Amino acid sequence: MKKIASVFIFVSSLIVSFTAFAAETKPAFTLPPLPYDKKALEPYISERTLFFHYEKHHRGYVDNLNKLAQEKGLIGLTLDQVIEKSASDPELKTVFNNAAQDWNHTFYWNSMMAKGGGEPKGAIADLITKTFGGYAEFKKQFIETGTKLFGSGWVWLVLDKDGKLKIVPTPDADLPMIHGEKALLTCDVWEHAYYLDYQNLRKDYVTLFLDHLVNWDFANENLKR
Ligand code: MN
Repeated sequence: MKKIASVFIFVSSLIVSFTAFAAETKPAFTLPPLPYDKKALEPYISERTLFFHYEKHHRGYVDNLNKLAQEKGLIGLTLDQVIEKSASDPELKTVFNNAAQDWNHTFYWNSMMAKGGGEPKGAIADLITKTFGGYAEFKKQFIETGTKLFGSGWVWLVLDKDGKLKIVPTPDADLPMIHGEKALLTCDVWEHAYYLDYQNLRKDYVTLFLDHLVNWDFANENLKR
């Protein structure tokens, strides 16, 4: 009987210490799963690019964010709250960069799909026609914006403060939400997004993003939200 009791105490203490360990080490932010297989966007974006981009770059931002959130006492906030809070505080610039890059990459993965691309359908198609006069003009401006953006950044399709559809570039980790704009779609134009597949040919990458990958359903969902 004494032996059974001591085994019970031993097992209970294991459970208690494991629970404490799990609570202590559970990260505040987690890398969201990719919405498709890493081969799904081939031949336009290779499995190799998606591996490095998701497993190294995106995961790196999430890991950094978790470390920084601990250090800066930001545990308990949502990702959006961390972004809003750090955006206006120069002392939290590194937090902002990693938090925003986490948000941007999740949004980017969802902005693409296998067998996507081509002309949009639904409400976003009507809005594009109304704003740009037609899909061809929208495509020309989106590619131009992505190609001309100097250095690293993002090209977005957004609704601005007045609800007007716009193509906007943002540098580095910058993103629409801190400018009062609603993001509908994004294309990552950091070199790591395309360099393994297209080297310096950013224009080719932005073009195939529109022709073969863009997820218009996602843009329509964002429009409704
Ligand atoms: Mn990226």
